[in-house]
Amino acid sequence: MTATLESTSPANGDVLGVVPEADEAAVARAVEAAKAAYEEWRLVPAPKRGEILYRFAQVLEREKAALTDLMTREMGKVKAEAGGDVQEAIDMSYYMAGEGRRLWGQTTPSELQNKFNMSVRVPVGVVGAITPWNFPIAIPSWKLAPALVCGNTVVLKPAEDTPLLAQRFVELLGEAGLPDGVVQIVHGYGETAGAALVRHPDVPIITFTGSRETGILVTKEAADNLKHVHLELGGKNAIIVLEDTDLELAVEGIVWSGFGTSGQRCTAASRVIAHAAVYDELQSRLVARAEKMRLGPGWEDDTDIGPVINRTAIEKIHSYTKIGRDEGAKLLTGGEVATDGDLAKGFYYRPTVFADVDARMRIAQEEIFGPTVSLIKVADFDEALRISNGIKYGLSSAIFTQDVNKAFRAMRDLQAGITYINAGTTGAEVHLPFGGTKDTGNGHREAGQAALDVFTEWKSIYVDYSGRLQRAQIDNT
Ligand code: NAD
Repeated sequence: MTATLESTSPANGDVLGVVPEADEAAVARAVEAAKAAYEEWRLVPAPKRGEILYRFAQVLEREKAALTDLMTREMGKVKAEAGGDVQEAIDMSYYMAGEGRRLWGQTTPSELQNKFNMSVRVPVGVVGAITPWNFPIAIPSWKLAPALVCGNTVVLKPAEDTPLLAQRFVELLGEAGLPDGVVQIVHGYGETAGAALVRHPDVPIITFTGSRETGILVTKEAADNLKHVHLELGGKNAIIVLEDTDLELAVEGIVWSGFGTSGQRCTAASRVIAHAAVYDELQSRLVARAEKMRLGPGWEDDTDIGPVINRTAIEKIHSYTKIGRDEGAKLLTGGEVATDGDLAKGFYYRPTVFADVDARMRIAQEEIFGPTVSLIKVADFDEALRISNGIKYGLSSAIFTQDVNKAFRAMRDLQAGITYINAGTTGAEVHLPFGGTKDTGNGHREAGQAALDVFTEWKSIYVDYSGRLQRAQIDNT
């Protein structure tokens, strides 16, 4: 009997569906099929590949409401955010469709007469794509749209918590006209299906989004085959609030970035670094807002915060509440699992605010991935920058200020792949590079033109039309 994987809703425990679970042999079959499809797909003209992505964007638009609803059930985020997740995939597909008519290389003069030089992008081969559950439609699109337009084929191993959304994503690619075999999907756990994909010798490139710890494992595993490894990992993002700012706007930004998606975004703001002059006022406004938020299933219109993804996640989040208390931080609100009425059927955690947090505490250093915000008081702007940078991650950063000089210094000095001025830490758009510095990754970027560098290799081409042997560096003197 084939093993299966069950998808259950974090909102109420409902079983939503079942998918086949891939073992090592199933992963190998998927790789073989993607390898066979590669020989034809790489020769499909890039504009034609782009047209399929364009149709895929249209299909996603048609299916947006259904995918949004499924996402509120399978992943748990609230309707507006789930719609945004699908929209991001629509935007990415339209954007990468256009790349089919660009994918520019360079032409450049030769040092020799009657010789032509150019560089072109070539696909890498079979891409192994491993994705997390927190952006179950958007993240597969960040990887698959550029990979496909560049001429690669893909084996997708989505997160075990959101298999149905990933399955639907791949089915819709087929509806949009993607030839059979070009994208394969294998469901299963990271340690089995994921690891088998990373190990497979016919997969020359792994694109991985997930935790720092898994990213390190993947890198080590891929090293034996000298694979390309593209990593998008965790964050511990901060919002700086200076004394001259519009406080209400800052609170809006903190609520959206700290509690949106129940804090389960890689770009979530889990630290707020506030100037002493506004610290007390900010604290009371934030607590008031947090206490008004309504927890519930994401598909209900008046829900502000949906569930977190599973039991392990809620236990981890709650363990950090204990850690914060033990470290001496002051719990202002939240800090507990919500179990009133039907909430007991799901995994709901109250929005949590800690004050008097020292920047060295574990709650201010480690990724919690839940609706927990730590407030850190600072005396001046320089201290704020130092604390914002004083972590191992470098994904997103933000500052609220009306002072243009400080805003520009922040843009220069914040050690992160993304900086927002007068906005929270979330809100990336698909045509700019996305990713982080330090332990958030390994120097690559997703989205925008930068994604093309992940999914292609450069080939330099020299065409000599002189009719004789011309030796570079020798015959040009
Ligand atoms: P995770 O690392 O546990 O899992 C991510 C994926 O890796 C899943 O598909 C999982 O099955 C797979 N996996 C696990 N172990 C594996 C192994 N040994 N070999 C191969 N694959 C393996 O992460 P998660 O809990 O699903 O996601 C949350 C993390 O992702 C957070 O740290 C978050 O910050 C990060 N994230 C980063 C970005 C970004 O773009 N920087 C975006 C979203 C999420």
